[in-house]
Amino acid sequence: MLKALLLDLDGTLLPMDTDAFLRQYLRSIGQHVAHLTDPRQFTEHLMAATEVMIRDTDKKVSNQEVFWADFLQRVDVPADKLLPVVDDFYVTRFPELKEHTFPTPLSKKIVETAGDKGLQVVVATNPVFPTTAIEERLRWIGLHDYPFALVTTYEKMHFCKPQIGYYAEILELLGLEGQECMMVGNDAYEDLVAAELGLQTYLVQDYLIPRDGVNFKPDYQGNLAEFLQFITEFNA
Ligand SMILES: [Mg+2]
Repeated sequence: MLKALLLDLDGTLLPMDTDAFLRQYLRSIGQHVAHLTDPRQFTEHLMAATEVMIRDTDKKVSNQEVFWADFLQRVDVPADKLLPVVDDFYVTRFPELKEHTFPTPLSKKIVETAGDKGLQVVVATNPVFPTTAIEERLRWIGLHDYPFALVTTYEKMHFCKPQIGYYAEILELLGLEGQECMMVGNDAYEDLVAAELGLQTYLVQDYLIPRDGVNFKPDYQGNLAEFLQFITEFNA
């Protein structure tokens, strides 16, 4: 019996070309720190530290802690100078990135329909971003105030997609078995790998990220409008 819906954000609930969005994000954050350090080096270090965070599977250390421990070793700016500028970026510049996404009212309808049917709803976005950046993206689709069962931020979580530990930690936090959950996302690997823990999977195809050599077959697939239909017809 299905009790929780895990919804990916980028390219799923929030329509976007994820690679194009990330390029704009890196360009923008690079510009924002340009008075402190070389923007190109900064973004290279940012991506390298993000990769370290994604590979780390130490359950005692949050993604945020892994990221900053690695990143601060790489950059030539002291933490007390850099951290306020990065925090300021997420408040003042990150909201401008909305123009590189394609918000649709379908997202809010999906979440509210699932909630009305008694399902717990989780924003299962890859926890590589701080809460401010996730809340802002939820704002673009009118969902920043919704009482989600869980939003996977980098402060809270200890694993990233595609680590299976990411999904295991969600199940633990919800107190549910894999069979009681469905993962909904646009990435043929990072979202569908949830099936290894027994979760049902729905591949959303509007901004599909295909993965060569990965052979997870989703239980269901369709575009976002079809997923709304699916959840509207769902009987608990
Ligand atoms: Mg995605």
